[in-house]
Amino acid sequence: MDLLWTDFLNSVWRDWRGTGKPPEDRLGQRDWQTRFLNKWELQAPVPAGPDELKALVRLRTFLQQLTEKLAAGEQIDQADVDGLNAFLKQTPVIRTIIKGENGKGWRLKSVAAQQGWAQVMDAVVTSFIQTAIEGNPERIKICENKDCLWVFYDNTRNRSKRYCDDKTCGNLIKVRKFRERQKTE
Ligand SMILES: [Zn+2]
Repeated sequence: MDLLWTDFLNSVWRDWRGTGKPPEDRLGQRDWQTRFLNKWELQAPVPAGPDELKALVRLRTFLQQLTEKLAAGEQIDQADVDGLNAFLKQTPVIRTIIKGENGKGWRLKSVAAQQGWAQVMDAVVTSFIQTAIEGNPERIKICENKDCLWVFYDNTRNRSKRYCDDKTCGNLIKVRKFRERQKTE
């Protein structure tokens, strides 16, 4: 399952088939930025400026570290929370009351007071916090295909998902293991 923050982290593309192609960082690419903003209904000028890009990379590196920790079954600690708070402090928020889900009732919505990439980063951090702090950090996974390393949210009932996609990575590893077994037999 794709979430705003997993999509953000997966801006580093790796060739999951293991052809040895070097990873490609798409974060700075116009196409990637446009697709990402459209998908999550966010607005920012494309392409991001050099300083904005630097800040985006810094955020991605930080969240990637936390993700690796959580995927390894470790807990978030005070230093991690301090790091997240530091990002949150950069963007003041405006709160508004909006219609609830399916038009029922009302709910409080916080939106970043700043526009553009600052707002995008705030949305990424908020999305991460919803999963890792308020939600189910044990569902944060990194694809076990070492050539892929895609970050995903495991929404299966018993949290048994090991690969980002059973049809691609899951199948590839299954076939590879099968061939290895055949060789040894
Ligand atoms: Zn994968």
